Amino acid sequence: MRVAWIGLGVMGFPMAGHLVSRGKLSVTVYNRTAAKAERWVQNFAGSAAPTPAQAAAGADFVFACVGNDDDLRQVTVGPDGAFQTMKSGAVFIDHTTASAIAARELQAMAASRGLGFVDAPVSGGQAGAENGVLTVMCGGTQADYAKAEPLISHFSRMCKLLGPPGSGQLAKMVNQIAIAGLVQGLAEAVNFGMRAGLDMEAVVEVISKGAAGSWQMENRHKTMIQGKFDFGFAADWMRKDLGICLDESRRNGAPLPVTALVDQFYAEVQKLGGGRWDTSSLIARFQNLDRKA
Ligand code: NAP
Repeated sequence: MRVAWIGLGVMGFPMAGHLVSRGKLSVTVYNRTAAKAERWVQNFAGSAAPTPAQAAAGADFVFACVGNDDDLRQVTVGPDGAFQTMKSGAVFIDHTTASAIAARELQAMAASRGLGFVDAPVSGGQAGAENGVLTVMCGGTQADYAKAEPLISHFSRMCKLLGPPGSGQLAKMVNQIAIAGLVQGLAEAVNFGMRAGLDMEAVVEVISKGAAGSWQMENRHKTMIQGKFDFGFAADWMRKDLGICLDESRRNGAPLPVTALVDQFYAEVQKLGGGRWDTSSLIARFQNLDRKA
């Protein structure tokens, strides 16, 4: 079986690596910045190709994990896109966080060429990718999913088909909406406790075992208290994701008042120079307000 991988960023690099180390698969990679592809080939056996089309030629499965809708369209249906050279019956698996519209459009274009397409955005962050324990939300046909799932299992601990094309992206939107308000609530709570003079590490040790507990509280409270944000899932990425959620809500009519507000708070974090800071940097807004006061 031959596999191609497009996009060796923070997420794609280790995910593609698991296909080799755990899946024992032969993988050809493409990365826009060629040096990353060379580094990947040095770390994991395999080969690199100079364009998505060349990487995808003859492959049974083509994976992608790039930035946004435009990037995804470029590597699939752009001038050197993978769809040009994929063989009939091959499946394209997209791990980019993109819009449901792009997923449906690309699935239809793939189907018209005899190709499969599964939208499969992920949750679990850099650590989840490196440890091969991602959560993967999929949209597509049952037949395409059945072919893709055994390969996705090499870097995931939960993978599920949630409906027709676009459903994976819609599920990822649900995920991001649920996170946005929660992180803002946690930032307010930690800031409030610190201002009240409480030992917040001790407070969190207690309340994380009760109804307020969450992954964010467990994994992010310490660094929020310390004001450290140079890791994790960047505010720039979160704004991209929340923009996708807000667009979709205008179509389906679901109100997202808290999500819209938190999106603006992330815009303030960007203005503070925190575009690459982790999403928990919402608390930095309060620290900045303190400085201004
Ligand atoms: P990243 O480190 O910035 O990597 C993005 C990758 O896409 C790089 O390989 C980049 O190539 C490539 N790329 C971007 N635009 C391209 C284009 N037009 N043509 C070809 N290649 C292009 O991002 P990441 O953190 O891996 O995230 C990738 C996706 O996963 C995003 O959609 C993100 O929202 C999602 N995601 C990320 C996380 C996380 O914690 N990081 C968690 C869940 C989901 P270059 O090397 O040349 O820049």
